[in-house]
Order: sequence, then C-alpha cells, then structure tokens
Amino acid sequence: MFISRELMLSSASYFGVSLTDNQVDMFDSYAKMLHDYNEKVNLTAITDPDGIVIKHFADSLALFKYVDIKNGMKIADVGTGAGFPGSALLIADNSLKVTMFDAVNKKLDFIRYALCELGLCADVVHIRAEDAGRQKEYRETFDIVTARAVAQLRILSEYCVPLVKVSGVFAPMKGEISDEEKQTGLSALNNIGMKLYDTVSYNIPTGEARNIFLSKKLSHTSPKYPRNSAQISKKPL
Ligand code: SAM
Repeated sequence: MFISRELMLSSASYFGVSLTDNQVDMFDSYAKMLHDYNEKVNLTAITDPDGIVIKHFADSLALFKYVDIKNGMKIADVGTGAGFPGSALLIADNSLKVTMFDAVNKKLDFIRYALCELGLCADVVHIRAEDAGRQKEYRETFDIVTARAVAQLRILSEYCVPLVKVSGVFAPMKGEISDEEKQTGLSALNNIGMKLYDTVSYNIPTGEARNIFLSKKLSHTSPKYPRNSAQISKKPL
C-alpha cells in the first residue's frame, strides 16, 4: 500500500463516509498514480501519502457530510485540477454522474488515465467554466456544482451558477476566507439569483479551517451570465 489504510478509513469516517476495502484500494491506486505522474507533470504540491489522504481525499469527502448528495445525482466540479473533489466523490459513490471541468488539459489527461485504470467513468472536459456555462449541453443541467480552491467567491459564483439547474445547489469549498471575500461573495450570490441557506465551517483532521457556502437556485439565471473571462475579472459581480 502507498497510503495508510487506517488513515484513509479514519479520515473518511471523520466526515461520516464509510469505505469498502475495494474503495480504499482505489484511493490507494489513485494516490500512487498522482504521486508518480506528478514527477513528470506538475499537478499538485501535495505528494506525500498522508497529505494526499487528508488534504485531497478526506477534504473532498467532506461534501458528503455537508451537502445532500443523493444516489445518481449529476455533479459538476469546476477547476478540478488533479480531480478534487470530483474523483474522490466518484470513488466513494460510483452512482454519481460526475463532470470535471478544467482550463488546463494536462491535468485532465491525468484524471482520464487514472479513472480508466480504476474502471471508473466520468466526463472530463477541457473548457473554461464560463464557456461551459454558455453551452446548452451544460447550462443549468447539474444538481450540484462544486469547486475547490479555484477563484474568489464572487468570481467563482459567475463561473459556476449558470451550470446549476433550477432547484440545484452551488457548494463552493473554501479554505480560510477574509471577511471581505465572504461579504462580496455572498452579495454576488444574491445578485446572480442564489439563495444562501447554510454556511458550514469546520476543520479537516489536520486542524485547518474550511468553509462551504451552500446556496440554492430558485429561478433561471439571466442569459447575460456568465460574461466572458475578461469582463468577469475586470468587473466582478
Ligand atoms: N480543485 C483542485 C483542487 O482543489 O486540488 C484544483 C485547484 S487549482 C488551485 C485551480 C484549478 O482551477 C486549476 O487547475 C485551474 O486550471 C482551474 N481553473 C481556474 N479558473 C478556471 C476556469 N475559469 N474554468 C475552468 N478551470 C479553471
């Protein structure tokens, strides 16, 4: 084993997720592939086995504790990088229909390779989120849209909200967040038609702070959103 089976089991159960032996083996293989692939292609700064278990896998699995994820739901992970949280959600529940978006294809090549090795199936799409949000195939089609460590909350909201279906949930995962980012982010969510219904603050097993802002889409997003990348960063919501 590359990772510690005990640490994987205990850190998943910290977030209420129980894993089978087969799932632990899949997490182990994913971690080993991430570690090895990272020697050729820069995917992540976290490459030690315990770090991967806690800061990538368990941190991703926290969504199961705080978001009402049901069997077979359509979930989008925007700016997935090396597959977090998307791949971890899929390993823990392969009934989920996970779509992972990223603007950098070399990271997606890793995910495609790793999921194929594990026999898991996901849509892994090389596209900027704000472009995906204007495509019929993706716009307002997801039950849950999440994103971890991608952009400031107000910018991220315009990237992601157009992808959420009406009555669906936007669940951005953030680390430490300044009061200013939080206030501007929550006001952006309100401006783009989302109803904030919960803010969850918790610590991962290392003690580091995390936040998930849970909002629900009550009506269709105006066709003027998302604007293009330059407009979003020049004049964020
Ligand atoms: N979510 C992963 C994680 O937590 O490990 C990766 C985080 S990494 C810091 C941010 C990722 O977001 C990068 O892979 C970057 O290419 C992607 N990204 C940033 N802006 C994006 C956009 N507008 N659309 C799609 N991907 C984007």
